[in-house]
Parts: sequence; structure tokens; C-alpha cells
Amino acid sequence: MEKEQGILPGCGSAARSNRAEQSVVNRAEETRGGKPRYEAINREQLCWRAVDVERLIGEEHAARAIWEFVGRLDMSGYREEVRAVEGKAGRPGWEPRLLISLWVYAYSEGVGSARAIEQLCEWEPGYQWLTGAVVVNAHTLSDFRVKHEKALKALFVQVLGLLSADGLITLERVMQDGTKIRAKAAQDSFRRKERVEQALKQAQEQVVAVEALSEEETSRRISKARSRAQRERQQRLEQALEEFEKLAEQGSGKDPENRRVSTSDPQARIMKQPDGGFAPSYNVQINTDASHGVVVAVGVVQAGNDFEQLQPGVDRVEQNLGKTPDQVVSDGGFVSRDNIVAMKERGIEYIGPCGDEAGKGKSSYEGRGVSPEYHSLQFVYDAQSDSYCCPQGKILSYEGKEQRYTQVSYRYRAQRSDCQGCPVKGQCCPGNRVTGRSIHRSEEIAEVAEFRHKMQTEPAREIYRHRAQVAETPNLWIKAKFGLRQFSVRGLSKVGMEALWACLTYNIRIWIRLRWRQVATVATVPA
Ligand code: SF4
Repeated sequence: MEKEQGILPGCGSAARSNRAEQSVVNRAEETRGGKPRYEAINREQLCWRAVDVERLIGEEHAARAIWEFVGRLDMSGYREEVRAVEGKAGRPGWEPRLLISLWVYAYSEGVGSARAIEQLCEWEPGYQWLTGAVVVNAHTLSDFRVKHEKALKALFVQVLGLLSADGLITLERVMQDGTKIRAKAAQDSFRRKERVEQALKQAQEQVVAVEALSEEETSRRISKARSRAQRERQQRLEQALEEFEKLAEQGSGKDPENRRVSTSDPQARIMKQPDGGFAPSYNVQINTDASHGVVVAVGVVQAGNDFEQLQPGVDRVEQNLGKTPDQVVSDGGFVSRDNIVAMKERGIEYIGPCGDEAGKGKSSYEGRGVSPEYHSLQFVYDAQSDSYCCPQGKILSYEGKEQRYTQVSYRYRAQRSDCQGCPVKGQCCPGNRVTGRSIHRSEEIAEVAEFRHKMQTEPAREIYRHRAQVAETPNLWIKAKFGLRQFSVRGLSKVGMEALWACLTYNIRIWIRLRWRQVATVATVPA
């Protein structure tokens, strides 16, 4: 054997080195008087441990702050629905203060699942301190999150009231932004109407079949679970058909035959994502007070764009705080003629980029190969005949009008025969193969002109430069820190509540950062 090892290069020297190390160990053991002894690991044993729940977390732990803040809120909205009452039999329910604190703490730690909270209650100090080292069942948590819409909205308003009283909300400047959050629906769950109708028919048959076999062939618990799953599927498909009706009323989509609705979350819509892709999503509209970054309103809509969301956003702010913001700031996705006029009528100063200017960029003539001598400014307008005269003396007559973002645009067109035979056609309208040259005359109403003029001033531009920092911070926190990149519930109402929980958590975290630690520090300073 030694001979074989000696054939391999380096093996002889390795063996010698091992023998040398072993002799060093042996000498060390002789010096100590024996082999070392180690603590044995016994994983078979059962342990009982004394836990001082109060000392599980430090004095400045976020769970203490959340518990304290939630304790200031009026829970009467939740108490109305509590069935376990004194003097009657039955298990007591969990206190709303605890369940609210658990969800707020969970969201702030990036946990959005009831099952995960139940597991964390077993060992995580923050959850253990909140519950008194007791585990709260996932079903209880899950139901509580989505079953009290009215009470949750009232709670959000109460939180705003407390933050306002603490000087954290001024409503001098409110910034609105929309963000797309993915729905709990797969891209391939979108089906045409006929397929949904077929699936509904099958689901109805299955509900009857499952109920028929429930008594004889399965246990009561399993049959109930199966029936519930089938009924839920049937309800989702019925809701999907209702969504088709809604889309038809809205005139959505270019091809009505091609409309599709998700069978797993019928109220979700395919929306463009920031990365350029498309995914089933909801559009979450967030209004943020610029003074301390508090979210003063949140809404969830099915619209893929933001044009029609500015006024509902301001309405929500007014409902929540009973006051109109002095100034509203938004990005170009909200800027439209209607919004500019509406803000003016409501006495709100509106700041945003001018949509037409942003859309124009470099002269579109450059892209179409039109020479400067034939830009629209070289055409002469005659108000009496409402027509233009081109550099070659031909008439461009009124053809129609278009509504653009902030303007009404009137279109004028030359005769096809005039242009097709014109010697300078290659410089004036090289791309027009079958029509005459057209130009647009824009007419701005006074409100839009005033808005455009204001947005060219440095103070307005300076305000707008701060928009992204203020308006996009809650969106980023909700997605990156709280982990809400995809909703864990389905349907507009439940999704709205999940967004509200995230914004409630965001606001309470602001209070902890700006007020609670100050309060705690002041309280510990000796008099
Ligand atoms: S192409 Fe038409 S619009 Fe242009 S200069 Fe000639 S006639 Fe006038």
C-alpha cells in the first residue's frame, strides 16, 4: 500500500505531514494529561425556558412604538363586529389593538402574509412581545385584514388626525403619484368572453357534483373545503362576466371581440410596468403632504393611466382631512386641460409639466424632412375665411378639430391635387403620398395659457423639481421596504385595503421617526 501511494506525486509527503501533525497532537494531550472534553449536543431533550416577555425587546423597539400609537386610536369601529361578549359563552376574540399592531409591525418588517406572521409569533421577539408570547392564528389575521373596510378607512383618517395634531400635516403642498402594483393573477389567466362562459358552465356542474358526493364519499371537512373552493371559482367566473359588461360600457379596447378578463382576479387589468413590460396590475394613487412626507390619501383604480385620477385624489384628501390642499403637484401623466381648469375652479394652485411641450420635444418637422421655409409659421392664416394660404399661394381649408392634452387643435388641409403636382412638395410634405399638406392651429383657453406661463417661471420649476423626491418616496418604501410588489389578496376592495394597510404603516413609521423617539428621549431626561 505504501508502495502504491508512493507512486502518486505528492502522496508520500502528505502522509509524512499527517503523521507529524498527529505526533504534535499526541504530545499536547500528554502535556494536558488526557483528551479534550466538549459540551454534548442533545437534540432529543425537552426544554422549559423562563422568558421575560417584557425584556424580549429594547425600550426603543418599533413594536413598543406601534403598540403605543395604536393604543391612542378609537377602536369602536371594530368593536361593533365582535361576537364574543361578556356574560355569554364562547372563546374570547383577539383585541383589535393587537391585530392592528401585528399587521402594522409585519408590514413595516416587509411581511405581508398572515401565515408568516403566525410562524413569526413563535419566536420573533417583536411579535412575541406584542402577543405576550402567544401565537395568533393565520385565519384570524387574514380575515381581520380584509373584513373591516369601513373601520380601516376610519382608522386611517384617525391616524391623519393625530399626525395633523402633531404638526406633521399642513396641506400647503400635496403631491400625487400613481404606481402599478401587480395583481394576484397570472398573465395567462386572461380569457375571452366565450371561454369564461364555458368555464362558468363547467364550474356550475362541478359545484352540483361535489355537493352530491360530499355525504357518502368524503369526510365532512374535506367536502366542505371542496364545495367552498368550487363556489369561489364560480363566483370569480360570474364576476369575470360582469367585468366584460363594465369594459363594454367603458368602450375599452380597440377590438371588442378581443377583450379578455382574468379568471383568477377579474378586476385586475393588464397595465404597462415601469420596466416597459405588461402585467396584471392595479393602479395605486397616493397623495403625499410635502411638509413631512405623510400619505394623506390612497386609492386603487383599474385605469392604466393617470389622466383622470387627479380630481378623485384631491377629493380623497378633502374627505380625509376636511380641507382642500393649497397646492397640488403631479407629473406629466396627470396634466390635462380638464385638470388645469378643475384645479383653478377649486382654488388650488396646480404645478406640473406642460403636457404639450413635453410631448413636442424637438420639432416634429425634422423627423418628417420638412424644410424650415415650409414650417407652419410660413403659412398665413385668414380669420375671415378660416383658412391658411401656403408659400405657393394655395389654400388649406378647415378639416376638423382634435382635443390634445391641454389644447384644442384645429386641422387645415390643402387640396390633394395642389400638393401632388407642386414643384416644392419634396420640401413641404415629402411623406404625403395621397393627401395634401395639413397644418394645425392650436387654441389655448385662458387657464391653460396661465398654467403654461407659470410653469416657465423659476419658482414653479423649483417646486416641480422636488416632486419625485416627495411623491415617489412612499411608493418606493411600500414596494422595496414593505415588500408590496404584488398584492396578496384579490379584487378591488381587498386590494384597496391592502394598499391602505401599507400607507397606514408608512404614516406610523413617520410618526415613530419624527415624534416617538423625541417623546421617549424627553421622557427619559431627568427633571
Ligand atoms: S406642397 Fe402643397 S401646401 Fe406645400 S407649398 Fe406646395 S401646394 Fe402648398
